[in-house]
Amino acid sequence: MKDVTGLFGSMVFNDAVMQARLPKDVYRSLKKTISRGTPLELDVANVVATAMKDWAIDKGATHFTHWFQPMTGVTAEKHDSFISPTEGGKIIMEFSGKELVRGEPDASSFPSGGLRATFEARGYTVWDATSYAFIKDGTLCVPTAFCSYSGEALDKKTPLLRSMEAIDKQAMRILKLFGNTSAKRVITTVGPEQEYFLIDKEMYLKRPDLVFTGRTLFGARPPKGQELEDHYFGSIKPRVSAFMKELDEELWKLGVHAKTKHNEVAPAQHELAPIFSTTNIATDHNQLTMELMKSIANKHGMACLLHEKPFAGVNGSGKHNNWSISTDTGLNLLEPGDTPHENAQFLLVLVAVIKAIDEYQDLLRVSAASAANDHRLGANEAPPAIISMFIGDELMGILEAIESGASYKGKKKLQMEVGVSVLPPFPKDTTDRNRTSPFAFTGNKFEFRMLGSAFSIAGPNIVLNTIVAEVLRQFADKLEKSKNFTKDLADLVKKTVADHKRIVFNGNNYAEEWVTEAKKRGLSNLRTTVDALPAFISKKSADLFTRHHVFTEGEIHSRYEIMMEGYCKVLHIEALTMIDMVKGKIMPACIEYQNELAKLLERKISISCGNMEIDTTLEKHLLTEISKLSACMLKKLTALESTVGKTKDKYKDALAQASFYRDSVFTAMSELRLIVDELETLSSKKYWPLPTYADMLFSVI
Ligand code: ADP
Ligand code: MG
Repeated sequence: MKDVTGLFGSMVFNDAVMQARLPKDVYRSLKKTISRGTPLELDVANVVATAMKDWAIDKGATHFTHWFQPMTGVTAEKHDSFISPTEGGKIIMEFSGKELVRGEPDASSFPSGGLRATFEARGYTVWDATSYAFIKDGTLCVPTAFCSYSGEALDKKTPLLRSMEAIDKQAMRILKLFGNTSAKRVITTVGPEQEYFLIDKEMYLKRPDLVFTGRTLFGARPPKGQELEDHYFGSIKPRVSAFMKELDEELWKLGVHAKTKHNEVAPAQHELAPIFSTTNIATDHNQLTMELMKSIANKHGMACLLHEKPFAGVNGSGKHNNWSISTDTGLNLLEPGDTPHENAQFLLVLVAVIKAIDEYQDLLRVSAASAANDHRLGANEAPPAIISMFIGDELMGILEAIESGASYKGKKKLQMEVGVSVLPPFPKDTTDRNRTSPFAFTGNKFEFRMLGSAFSIAGPNIVLNTIVAEVLRQFADKLEKSKNFTKDLADLVKKTVADHKRIVFNGNNYAEEWVTEAKKRGLSNLRTTVDALPAFISKKSADLFTRHHVFTEGEIHSRYEIMMEGYCKVLHIEALTMIDMVKGKIMPACIEYQNELAKLLERKISISCGNMEIDTTLEKHLLTEISKLSACMLKKLTALESTVGKTKDKYKDALAQASFYRDSVFTAMSELRLIVDELETLSSKKYWPLPTYADMLFSVI
């Protein structure tokens, strides 16, 4: 067996390494930078850089990179070697404090949504000392934030760190009101559960749609899908198991607490969950996890699909963002406590989250929006596009009792009054039975389930942190002025429950009736990305984000443009890939098969004579049907081509163009797919040019 404790974090320049390798005073100033965000002096940075380089070289590294998270959703890195020429044609290995702290990638090609014209090519990267440096593939990776010269964020990390500061500031005000003097900081924590598919690499490479777009654009339903539910938690196949083992080990080396792994509901679908950590580290680690999943699958002759809906008709993949708020002293603010005092604080934070989700449901929906995730949200397996919260019957009972002023008789027969008596202890398992809710309270954390599997978790957590910070700010403003804290607190909780309980829904979110009921309650139902995105540039959104210094107005608009453009690009590439596949593969295959059928028919007719009439029903039937469908396919193909052509027209704005993609291009794509999938079921396997759903979903044995 491997020495896991020795392996864990062995490629991370973590606290233990810093302590061992840095002079005491340098270590102390670095710790201060990490915990309090104080700037690092250059001479300190020089010492840290040298220690980092020596450590990295000991581990076999030759290069360093500023590792950052541009708006593409994946990470970026540009490698520089440590070498520096000296006299006599020799070199030394160097890494300066300046190189550690700040980098200038030629980053003109990253999306900036108009924030930075490409001629001002230089954005710069700054070391994020709150996330440890690590070695990946022989390169020392320094986690960094990426900004323009005028200071605008060009990445996902900068606003995430800002949102963490916002919630820290407001939650600390609340803690003070409850007399907490020991906590110095409040942090949000996240444990993201990651779903993915594994299929055989050979199959993958034969599907241009998977290679170019990450999802199958054609494919008839297989005879067996997920209906037997025999895959969920099923025994893990040896090839998959070998992959998971290597993945665990590589993640452990990078200090990622990979914890749970199992098969998911759909065939070929799996899940990995780490132990939670602070939100910015969880974000970095989730990016690393996705990256390693892909590269390690490749080593094992498989392809890892992170797309939200690689296969129609079987479950897609999501990411569950388990989110909570804690103090630096380890107190979880979403954990119901044992004393009346702690319970009152818990209830206040709980209703703050309820209010935040209700008031900013549209922003939360935006944070889970992408062209790919549109295939999931609202389909039968994922939460619907309607945001609601599940808090369980027991907690709901308590909130309703508070609202009506009645005393709460829980199962344990304990009386409940804010700030006076004790909350009935409710067993955690009773709070997690609802798997259909987009946002569920699970005992001491919330699980936001709408995220797509390929997402960076930064976006949704930026929104969550900021909206909760905003409500905590409102609460603190009110309570700091209070003359009678207990009474005002009770009134505030009561009023918040009354005003915002419409967002709580403990029933089945997949039921048709919920859609009607949600409408009655006035909740949003933003079905597609195009419907959702405008909420991001609303005045309400701008007020929120600028007030908490998370985004400037310019940053909001640039992100909106990037997201709208991204939506259009995804659909454009999908449409072109479909056209290409039909012309280059599917049409020729249909022709070949028809040719074989026609030849056979001709031969049968030619050798029929007199009373020896050979039956040709089957050939005629197939030939007629395939000819008919092929003609229809040509019609739909031509329609798609002409629709794609119209995307070059002038549109009023990004919204108008994206709407055209959704309403016209996507419809034309769906119509073409329908015909092609029917052709697949009629065609001979010998001629069909693509691996089928059955081939792919059951390819790894
Ligand atoms: P499930 O949702 O499948 O029932 P668990 O309840 O064990 O699984 O936890 C799921 C994820 O939630 C794990 O990644 C876990 O580390 C994370 N988690 C647990 N506590 C917290 C917390 N306080 N903050 C954030 N994430 C947490
Ligand atoms: Mg879960």
